[in-house]
Amino acid sequence: MGKKENMGRNPTEKELRAAQRVLELHPLQQRNHPSAVLADHSKLAHINTYGSLPEFYLDQPFVCRLCGKREIWKAEDQKWYYEEAKGHIDARAVECHNCRKAKRSGSAHPVQKS
Ligand SMILES: [Zn+2]
Repeated sequence: MGKKENMGRNPTEKELRAAQRVLELHPLQQRNHPSAVLADHSKLAHINTYGSLPEFYLDQPFVCRLCGKREIWKAEDQKWYYEEAKGHIDARAVECHNCRKAKRSGSAHPVQKS
């Protein structure tokens, strides 16, 4: 089991850039990258889109649509979401940890509309 502290909630500029760089690599290079997490297709049976199952997961930098915070959706978290929580394959991280937490706890979180 690896490091638990930084799960992409507070990525440094360097981490964001590193993740972005991996996303621009050729798929074969991505697959062999140390940050890639291989997918287990036996756990993706709930996804019935033939032929388009992911081979692996990569850290995905994103900008929170609510507060604009930049975070990384870690490859291990994606694996858990798709394979254990049986999430929809088209689902993407769009809200940061704090905004999701605020929603879950039911507290009113003012959404800034610009
Ligand atoms: Zn947010």
